[in-house]
Amino acid sequence: MGVRRWILSGIILIVIPVSVFAGEYRDIGEFLSKVELELQWNPFLKIGVFRIGYSVVSFKVDEPWVLVNYREKMKIDPIIEKEGTLQWTRKTEEAIYGALVGSNKSGPRVAAIFIDPGHGGKDPGTVGRHQIGKETLELKEKDINLKTSLLLADLLKRRYPEKKVILSRSDDRYLTLEERTEMANSISVDPEDAVIYVSIHVNASLNPKARGFEVWYLPPQYRRKLIDSDRVGAENREIVPILNMMLEEEYTIESILLAKHILDSMEESVGSLSENRGLKEEIWFVVRKAKMPSVLVEIGFITHEEEAKLLNQPEYLQKIAQAIYNGIVRFIGTIDQPTRRVKAP
Ligand SMILES: [Zn+2]
Repeated sequence: MGVRRWILSGIILIVIPVSVFAGEYRDIGEFLSKVELELQWNPFLKIGVFRIGYSVVSFKVDEPWVLVNYREKMKIDPIIEKEGTLQWTRKTEEAIYGALVGSNKSGPRVAAIFIDPGHGGKDPGTVGRHQIGKETLELKEKDINLKTSLLLADLLKRRYPEKKVILSRSDDRYLTLEERTEMANSISVDPEDAVIYVSIHVNASLNPKARGFEVWYLPPQYRRKLIDSDRVGAENREIVPILNMMLEEEYTIESILLAKHILDSMEESVGSLSENRGLKEEIWFVVRKAKMPSVLVEIGFITHEEEAKLLNQPEYLQKIAQAIYNGIVRFIGTIDQPTRRVKAP
C-alpha cells in the first residue's frame, strides 16, 4: 500500500550492527538491538528521533545538542554518521537514554478530539437530487455531515469522559474554514498532549456511478509553522525550523495512522454496502492549517442514487459514525498506551 511505502522510505530504521572499534564512538544500532527504543531517521535531512513510548529525543547529525520532547535542549557530544551508520559516544548514549526514560510519563496523550462537520448555514456543500419513482430525494451535504458528526461526538463523549470532544458546529450555521481551524488550534491542552482533527464531508461527482468512502490525510510535503520561536526561548531560536520539520514529520505519520484506522473500520462496517476508495493524500485546505494530526473523511457520494438513499437513512449514518469512532478509538489506543516496559541495556 502507498502509505506503508511512504513510511518505510521516510523512516529508515538503523538496524545494521557493526563491530565496535577502538575509540570512543560506537554504533547506535548495537544499542538499539538491546533496548526497546525506536529510531526514526531521515537520511536526507540528517535528522533523527529516538522514542520510548511517547518520550522523544530529536537530534541532527554533528550538532552538539538534542531536544527532549521538542522543547528542552540538552548538550551532548555530537552524533556522527560514519560509513553509513550513526555513531555516538557512551556519554551521549547514557544522556539520551536517561532523558527518554526519565521524561517518560503516563496519562492521556490525545487530550481532545475536534470534530468538524463540513459546510453549514448558507453553504450547503454538495447537493444530491434523485428521482425515485414519483418522489424526489434531495439531500444536502451540510445536513449529513452534521448528523454524522453529532452521532460520532456522542459516542466519543461516552467513551472518553476525560477527553475534550469538541464540535466546530452542532447546528446549521455557517463557519469559514479559518474559523474552524482557529477553533481547533485554540483548544487548550497540556503542551505534551495532542488534539486530533476529524473533518466529515460527503462527496459528489459528475459521474453518477462514482461511489464509496475515502479518507484524506495531510501530505508530508506541506510545510507548516508548528512551533513559534517564542515558545522555545531566545537561545533556541536557530533550531526552530528543524524542530518544525521534526514535529511535522511526526504529525504526518500520526495523520496517516489515524486515516488508516478510520478507513479500515469503515471497510469492516460498510465495505459491503459501499466502496472503499482508499487513503488519499493531498493538501486539503480544510485540514492543512490545523497544527495537529488531521484527517478528512468523505463518507459517500451524494450523487450516486443508491448511496444517496443510504445517506438518507439514520441507521446508515449511525453505522458510519460507529466506524469512524472505532477507527479513532484504535488510533488513540496506539498513542495513549501506558509507558512501555524497557529492558535494561
Ligand atoms: Zn464537503
